Amino acid sequence: MRNHVTHFVNGKPWEHGSARQGELFDPLTGEIRAMVDFASTGDVATIVDVAATAWASWRDSSLTRRMAVMFAFRDLLFQRRDELAAIVSAEHGKVHSDALGEVQRALEVVEYACGIPSLLKGGYSENVSTEIDSYSVRQPLGVVAVITPFNFPAMVPLWFVPLAIACGNTVVLKPSEKDPSAANLLAAWFIEAGLPDGVFNVVHGDKEAVDALLTHPTVKAVSFVGSTPIARYIYETGTANGKRVQALGGAKNHMVVLPDADLDLAADAAVSAGFGSAGERCMAISVVVAVDPIGDELVSRIAERVRRIELGSDMGPLVTGAHRDRVASYVDAGAQAGAAVVVDGRDQLERAGFWFGPTLFDHVTPDMTIYTDEIFGPVLCVARARSYDDALAMVNATKYGNGTAIFTNDGGAARRFQHEVEVGMVGVNVPIPVPMAYYSFGGWKSSLFGDSHAYGADGVHFFTRGKVVTSRWLNPSHGGVNLGFPTHT
Ligand code: NAD
Repeated sequence: MRNHVTHFVNGKPWEHGSARQGELFDPLTGEIRAMVDFASTGDVATIVDVAATAWASWRDSSLTRRMAVMFAFRDLLFQRRDELAAIVSAEHGKVHSDALGEVQRALEVVEYACGIPSLLKGGYSENVSTEIDSYSVRQPLGVVAVITPFNFPAMVPLWFVPLAIACGNTVVLKPSEKDPSAANLLAAWFIEAGLPDGVFNVVHGDKEAVDALLTHPTVKAVSFVGSTPIARYIYETGTANGKRVQALGGAKNHMVVLPDADLDLAADAAVSAGFGSAGERCMAISVVVAVDPIGDELVSRIAERVRRIELGSDMGPLVTGAHRDRVASYVDAGAQAGAAVVVDGRDQLERAGFWFGPTLFDHVTPDMTIYTDEIFGPVLCVARARSYDDALAMVNATKYGNGTAIFTNDGGAARRFQHEVEVGMVGVNVPIPVPMAYYSFGGWKSSLFGDSHAYGADGVHFFTRGKVVTSRWLNPSHGGVNLGFPTHT
């Protein structure tokens, strides 16, 4: 019998089965390794009810208790990071060291959430009027939904879940149906860490489960990460149903290399950021913009490094066969459109499993689909620009605005770039500028719908709502009835 992944609800695996299931593959071989349950609308309603029941007491849990749960969970996550990385690798296909990096970045968000008593501190003003004091508090929202993509099955859920819980909410997580098992491990470990049953639930499924969450009146907020068309749909549907929504979308990240840059550093960075995780990262570099006259030299240094990438130890396969075929069709289109294929990854297509070799294009122009579309595979495009201004104009003309980087030794140029570029996360001689847990993660334009970025101060803000209390304690010398609008005099 095949392995079977089901929902995790009220502190234990779901016992009611499912009418529909999806297949889980081993990306290395292409074989089916397990089946995952797909929740119906009715299943989702039952699970949301469990979370709502748990909220009645979790909302009143002390900050000390929430902090203690986070510390205990942090220790379990740290001790078991290899186990979590192994399940991520098995279902996603990324190599173990890369999966461990994902777990490390997730751990940092959990550590940030351990500081919840400080993060939730409000303000207090004494004597806003005579003998009247005002203070502000932030309170939890209720049941919140978190919907996540396949490419970081441990890290992206942990961008949201620890802060949502620490802020006093209860959570229903709908992870990607392509690699769902990491979410169940996290939920089980939270129970071990002392989290009460029902505070963190995992429901598996596809569009039916997502739509059920988006329209359920008890769900107060939705945090989503995925592709841009779905992010836009989630934002529009969730807000139309009265929910607070943050929906992070896709990307096409440009790395600008100025003529004075250290070209070896830039080539190392382009290859690491372009081909790490087989390009299946929303912060991957997919376009290198080489500013004249360094194009030929930079391409030759990048190509030399790309040819040395070892499949299996440096870079894994893609997540599914359908995705591999989509990447291949983009590469075909790029070659037909006239881009120069410097390294061709299509030579791996005959291999069993979902392998696609690292691919490098030169002389890519903004009219080509390999330039405009998010490919989400091991395909790096080099485009040429005549000047800094041309390069900046290219970056700012793209519809996405997730991440970008500039490589230069000119501090003034770097400073201009970080000021002028229309992108949410900027690296200066740093290719994947993923903000630390105490900043917030989020792009601009079609890379994010909503106002709040993920984790950091934005995360705390997203998962709470503000209340201001104005209070006076008994003093008999009040001024009597006054129908005028209250002022401080
Ligand atoms: P996806 O949009 O296909 O799926 C994301 C989630 O939405 C999954 O849980 C999936 O089940 C659900 N979903 C898919 N189709 C749906 C539909 N029609 N209706 C309702 N729900 C639906 O994304 P993916 O392929 O899993 O992940 C890759 C994408 O995620 C890339 O575009 C990548 O750039 C993006 N991403 C963005 C960030 C970021 O921070 N901006 C981070 C990681 C990944």
